[in-house]
Amino acid sequence: MKRYIGVDLGGTKIAAACVDESGHITNETRMETRSREGAESVYGRIKQVIMRAGGGEPIHGIGVAVPGLTDPHTGTILTLSNIPSLDGFPLAERLAKEFGVSVQADNDANAATWGEYHFGSGKGADSLIFVTISTGIGGGIVLNGQTIQGKQGFAGELGHMVVDPEGFACGCGRTGCLEAVASGTAIARWAKEANPQALFFQYANEQNREVRSEDVFQAWESGDSTADEIIEKVIRYLGIGFANYIHIFNPERIVVGGGVSKAGARFFNLLRQQVEKETMLVYKGTFEIVPALLLERGAILGAAMLSGK
Ligand SMILES: [Zn+2]
Repeated sequence: MKRYIGVDLGGTKIAAACVDESGHITNETRMETRSREGAESVYGRIKQVIMRAGGGEPIHGIGVAVPGLTDPHTGTILTLSNIPSLDGFPLAERLAKEFGVSVQADNDANAATWGEYHFGSGKGADSLIFVTISTGIGGGIVLNGQTIQGKQGFAGELGHMVVDPEGFACGCGRTGCLEAVASGTAIARWAKEANPQALFFQYANEQNREVRSEDVFQAWESGDSTADEIIEKVIRYLGIGFANYIHIFNPERIVVGGGVSKAGARFFNLLRQQVEKETMLVYKGTFEIVPALLLERGAILGAAMLSGK
């Protein structure tokens, strides 16, 4: 069976593992990134985690998930806000020379999408959208078995679709993007503007911190009416966004990752109902909305499979 190395390059840690064609993981390993020490130093640690993950056995390819933009054709890093020392670094080319195998680099959202497609909740679906909802909203698109990259590899900014022009300002410069009104950050922001009697303030006060999205979900589970209004609003926005994805891409499945994927069956059922309401009649019954399966391992598994494409 072929063995690949998947690397998840993050701002604080570099994680890697050996992954076989069936998605079985061995030799998981990690090191600190230490971006400030410069590109060659970070590159040296990437090589080390790959060697450890390989365990001295032959490997068939290497894939690296990076927290930013890469050139999808060459695997050169374009820009990484968390690891600025690697901007412009020809990562795939250097690793391919070093290890003598095919090397692919792609952003972590695309890698996680590819992981869900091969081994997670997307398994068996030919076309899928992976949406990760946590502090922001991002994801990736697989259409007829292929990831969608676009000209520069920038395709799939699923969180920066305006769903409410009257909504909050978004970090991208627009107003009312899905990320600005329905991410975990947005849920906390709606909560801070809400009735001070709401149960989620009590949960946050008990922990001696500001209110977070998880407090809102917990209050919602307990039947708090203010939390109910916030979650209803968020579901309405997600319904608009997801229906838009469906109308453009006709996916078989929408896989939801990030913190919100843990929101439970009640949340998913309401979301499914809302998306059904928003989609054109012709799409009824053509798609499923499911929570992601792989969570933090998705990027490593997907990265490994990038090189087996
Ligand atoms: Zn935006």
